[in-house]
This record gives sequence, structure tokens and C-alpha cells, in this order.
Amino acid sequence: MSFDIGHEHRDVGGGWLRPAVFGAMDGLLSNSSLIAGIAGGSAAAGLQGANLRTTLVLAGFAGLVGGAFSMGAGEYISVATQSESIMSEIEAERLELIRNPEGELKELAHIYEAKGLSPELAHEVAAIISEDPQRALAVHVQEEMGVSVEGLPSAWVAGISSFIAFSLGALVPLLPYLFGATSQTPAIALTAISLFLAGAVVSRVTTKSWWFNGSRQLVVGAAAGGITYILGHLVGGVV
Ligand SMILES: [Zn+2]
Repeated sequence: MSFDIGHEHRDVGGGWLRPAVFGAMDGLLSNSSLIAGIAGGSAAAGLQGANLRTTLVLAGFAGLVGGAFSMGAGEYISVATQSESIMSEIEAERLELIRNPEGELKELAHIYEAKGLSPELAHEVAAIISEDPQRALAVHVQEEMGVSVEGLPSAWVAGISSFIAFSLGALVPLLPYLFGATSQTPAIALTAISLFLAGAVVSRVTTKSWWFNGSRQLVVGAAAGGITYILGHLVGGVV
């Protein structure tokens, strides 16, 4: 019989994995749809060969850069705002520890009592922790808010990894055209494979299996691309 002591936890507290995975998926999905829409419109407008390729490269490149900035800035703002609100809560707790040390000591003792310690032992543990102000703050913040004073996610890491991941995802449907393709087949094939792989990788941070996530991502991507192509075709036939 063996005991699983050293089990690993998933990266649930921010960091780079989540924004990177979702950024790449976003880039792949949004840029392949954008390119499909332009391709549909261009087909209806009678654009072909090298002209079509130039149009798709320009549109795909603009979609990549615009999307990467939007994604990176959005992720940066979201994480920064969250960290700032947690930091102001930590500051409030720090002031409260200075202003009302007795009350805070009781509060901590109550937390340990609720965890099953006897009142005497809970008070003793709380008193030892409260001797050091830094340690007291760290423990209060951890027990009351469930966050670590040092473990706040970096907004820059989240923003930059989103930017890079979106760019890489968005590059995939663009790649065949950059290498001279004038037909859509290589881009569609490459996008389909990447959608499946991206979905499969996401299963590492969810509870679903890799083939379920991969297939779902492929279906969603195909629907998005197909619908955008048809809409592009309709608009391209009118303008
Ligand atoms: Zn407190």
C-alpha cells in the first residue's frame, strides 16, 4: 500500500499557464475565423491567386497584431486590478493588526478553534503567531482571504504571456500564406490540427479528457470558421 503524499496541484493561482493556453487558443480561433471571412468575401468578389494571398496575409497580420495587443492589455488590466484590490485588503488587515491587536488575536484564536483546536491551545497558537508582526499579517491574510502575501500573480507576466501566446496561435492560420500558398487547403488543415492539439493541451487544466477537449475545440473552430466564411461570402457579394 502506498500513500500519495507529494501530489502536485494544478496552477490555479494565476501565473503564465492559464493565460498562455487560452491566449493561444484565442489567437488560433479568432485569426483563422478572420482569415476565413476575408477568404469568403474575396471569393465572392472574384479575388484570386497572388492578389488573394496578399489580401489574406495583410488581414491575418493585422488580426494578429491587433488581437495580441487587445488580449495582452486585457489580461494585464484584469490581473493588475485583482492584485490591487487584494493589496488594499492586505493593507487594511495590516492597519487592523496595529489598531486592534487584542481583537485580531481573538479572531485568529477563533479561526483555530473552528479548525478543531481546544480554546486554550487555539489561544496559545494565536499568541505565538502574533508575536511577530510580519508573520501575524501573513497568517491573517492566508486564513481570512486565502491568499499568500508573496504569491500574488504578476500582471506583466500574465499580459506578456497572453500577448506572445495569442501571436503564436494567430500565426498558425497565416503561416501557409506567408510561405506562398494561394489555396486555402493548407491553412485549413494546419488550423484543424492545431485546434485539436490546443484543446487537448487544455485538458491538462480541466477535468475533461484530451480527446473530448480536442474534438470540442475542433468543432467550435470549424463552426466559427465556417460561419465567418459564409458571412464573408455574403458581404463580399454585395460590396
Ligand atoms: Zn485579521
